[in-house]
Amino acid sequence: MLGSRPDLVKLADTRWDLIVIGGGITGAGILHQAAQLGIKALLVEKHDFSYGTSSRSSKMVHGGLRYLKQGDIRLTRESLQEREHLLRHLPGLVVRQSYLFPLRRGQFPGRWAMTVALWFYDLLAGVRDHRWVSADDLAQRVPALDTRALTGAMRYTDALTDDSRLVMRILHDAVEEGGRAINYCGVNDVSRRSNGDLTLSVTDHAAKADPVRGGTPVTATLVARRVINATGAWADQLSGTPARVRPQRGSHLFVPAQRLPLSECLTLVNPRDGRPVFVFPWEGETCIGTTDLDHRDDPDREPRATRKEIDYLLELVNGFFPDVQLTDADILSTMAGVRPIIASGKGGDPSSERRDHAVWSHDGVITVSGGKLTTFRVIALDALAVAGFIDRHRHRALRRAGPRFAQNSAIPTGLGHPLRRWPEGDALLAEIDWVLQHEMVQHLDDLMLRRTRLGNMLPRGGEERLPVLAKLVCERLGWDQSRWEVEVQRYLDIIQDSYSVQEA
Ligand SMILES: Cc1cc2nc3c(=O)[nH]c(=O)nc-3n(C[C@H](O)[C@H](O)[C@H](O)COP(=O)(O)OP(=O)(O)OC[C@H]3O[C@@H](n4cnc5c(N)ncnc54)[C@H](O)[C@@H]3O)c2cc1C
Repeated sequence: MLGSRPDLVKLADTRWDLIVIGGGITGAGILHQAAQLGIKALLVEKHDFSYGTSSRSSKMVHGGLRYLKQGDIRLTRESLQEREHLLRHLPGLVVRQSYLFPLRRGQFPGRWAMTVALWFYDLLAGVRDHRWVSADDLAQRVPALDTRALTGAMRYTDALTDDSRLVMRILHDAVEEGGRAINYCGVNDVSRRSNGDLTLSVTDHAAKADPVRGGTPVTATLVARRVINATGAWADQLSGTPARVRPQRGSHLFVPAQRLPLSECLTLVNPRDGRPVFVFPWEGETCIGTTDLDHRDDPDREPRATRKEIDYLLELVNGFFPDVQLTDADILSTMAGVRPIIASGKGGDPSSERRDHAVWSHDGVITVSGGKLTTFRVIALDALAVAGFIDRHRHRALRRAGPRFAQNSAIPTGLGHPLRRWPEGDALLAEIDWVLQHEMVQHLDDLMLRRTRLGNMLPRGGEERLPVLAKLVCERLGWDQSRWEVEVQRYLDIIQDSYSVQEA
């Protein structure tokens, strides 16, 4: 289990076989595989674990019909195989979900083209899980959906997860297998020694002398034989090579399930631009997303959904659900993530760029970026192969064997709590208590936005209910009243800047 946060200065006493930079799904996956191979490995994360894209995805563990449409059969097959592995090995955390793909009269794809595509999709996954749903049946399953222009829908299955909880689960297992991990430790630079070792200047942003009034953060020099830069959208900052990442933003909205109740995931194709948008049940509410735009903001500023993106998503949903008519007032929160796309160099429509990952190395630093949440294990094996820890045969054998996770029912899955009703009942409070003791929570936003999703699912980030948490959090984390107040302010500022509806 992850347990309490290590001391950065003590971590500097070890010469590591491998240091992984970045605590998203990619870094966590690499640490997990490395630890299982007996490699002495450490992961360092600049912010919180899963702070980057890995807490802001569409939460789908899926093959991705869009990749099939783009003719990317390898990525689709790889993703579907991983989906099936994760469904088998992480029940409760990765759950099968029914999807409905409504089809419009007179538009491509029609029923037969979709039947062929889904037959192939299921074949690649080794399941048989698709069927036609008539317009009448669809109207019963999704009563508020305007089915007048629809011929019906194709039903198939994929899977959903809580992406942030998935990262935590993998980190817990990695540490259980001998890996080490620390959050709030940013790598400033990496340089090579004459003996081939790499040195990393790392700053611990959490270990300030006085977290209330500030102080000088601690900086230490770590040494490793190999370094893997798994910093996603930030990868170009440490790769030492010309920029390869084309950052693309995708935004989501959360709305109350009472306003838009769904038990199945809907894929709505925007009749204006042909882009698919998912509307799906998640953590007791309804999620709508995503957009797909070049992200040109400062990479060190937390991304946020723009007014234009919010309007785009509302307009699309309101077109399909004319009697619902969602407005800003219905939005519980927004969530924007930045996808690290490996640029083709052709420019053009962001949606048309491939979603593959790439691994490259320069002066001893191996960089891995791009790809999907779903394929984290394959990405990890690829990075470890380039780092020279495994050969081609071992890579293939490990990939085929599937993942290995410890059986641990104590680790929260995130899914299944009706967060809106909180703090009724003790179950969630018990979970929060466990998280505070075992998951290196350093700030209130770690708890509200990543270890749990209270901040996404409650209006105004759950501001009104924060007092319920104060005693427990302060007791477990050793905070006094002034620290609590600083944390509440920091958290509410983040909610306001990055998770709220922006005015025009
Ligand atoms: C809107 C959206 C929807 C998506 N939906 C899906 C989906 O449904 N299914 C799917 O399979 N995939 C999906 N993806 C893709 C998937 O989310 C990403 O591919 C994946 O999360 C990337 O993980 P990562 O670990 O590479 O990057 P990140 O999660 O961004 O992690 C990189 C980490 O590196 C840290 N870091 C940066 N610089 C430093 C430094 N100097 N020192 C230390 N640490 C540093 C950052 O703080 C960050 O936590 C989606 C992506 C987006 C944007």
